[in-house]
Amino acid sequence: MMVCSCSRPLQRTDALGAVVTGGDAGQAVAERAGQSAPASESVTSGGQASAVAMAPAAAILARAEKTLPYPDRADFDRLDAVLKLLSERAREAMPLTTSNRAEFLTDLQQVLEEEKSFRTDDLSLYYLIDKKHNVGVDYVPKDLVHLEKNELFDINKNNLSLRPEAYKALCHMAQASLKDGVRLLVSSTYRSYEYQTWLFQHWVDVDGLEEAERESARAGTSQHQLGVAVDFGSVSDDFADTVMGQWVYAHSEDFGWSLSFPQGYEDVTGFRWESWHFRYIGRPACDFQRKWFSDVQQFMIEFLDTWKNS
Ligand SMILES: [Zn+2]
Repeated sequence: MMVCSCSRPLQRTDALGAVVTGGDAGQAVAERAGQSAPASESVTSGGQASAVAMAPAAAILARAEKTLPYPDRADFDRLDAVLKLLSERAREAMPLTTSNRAEFLTDLQQVLEEEKSFRTDDLSLYYLIDKKHNVGVDYVPKDLVHLEKNELFDINKNNLSLRPEAYKALCHMAQASLKDGVRLLVSSTYRSYEYQTWLFQHWVDVDGLEEAERESARAGTSQHQLGVAVDFGSVSDDFADTVMGQWVYAHSEDFGWSLSFPQGYEDVTGFRWESWHFRYIGRPACDFQRKWFSDVQQFMIEFLDTWKNS
């Protein structure tokens, strides 16, 4: 007889009358029958499961997640550490539960893999820029593409330009909108540090400092300086209700464009609702933002920044 080292050996008699023991029982029977049996299965004498305490559902789900090759234990620990660094409002916006954290980490991995395909001689398309994170007076995106008058979309001035990735995505989006009978109007794109300095002061002169801070960025803190932001249409609240605005809302994320300053998040983004302002971050990041961050770009970009620095 084989000797089993477990504390409660199970015994059964196999089909040929030999007594087999413990976790090897099923294997022994199967081998005599010319089959292979799952090594982890035990068989009791009555064919019933032994009476052991049931593992709670949450524990078993958490254990199931950790059996995957990715993410590994360190990723779960890193996620816990990063979440603690986020604002309470950001955490509340994330629909994380015990059972979906591995799915979140897998999606995160895809977004970070996508980032590896970005050009490495310029800032990441996920670069965090806001009232607390800036770029210098000398930062100019590489290879800015000048926007000419064209058949796909309208431009409202002749000095517009975008980073190549954003330009390409804009053209694809405009092509799709045209098919739906909507011709996009591009009103503002890349802005230099010097121009943003002038523009911010202009709005201070018009509206006063307090109002200017709500809808105009100080130089060095504007997504426009990154060359990846576009202001569409009228650049006013009524844009949201126009046919163009409705189309852009419905389809922009399919082309990698994300609304930067949504309604009701001024305390998060630092800016009041800007229905016309979109930033190019790529399709995978848009999907990630919608699925895990209540579709709020600021939460997602802050998360990515915190993750990378953790
Ligand atoms: Zn803008």
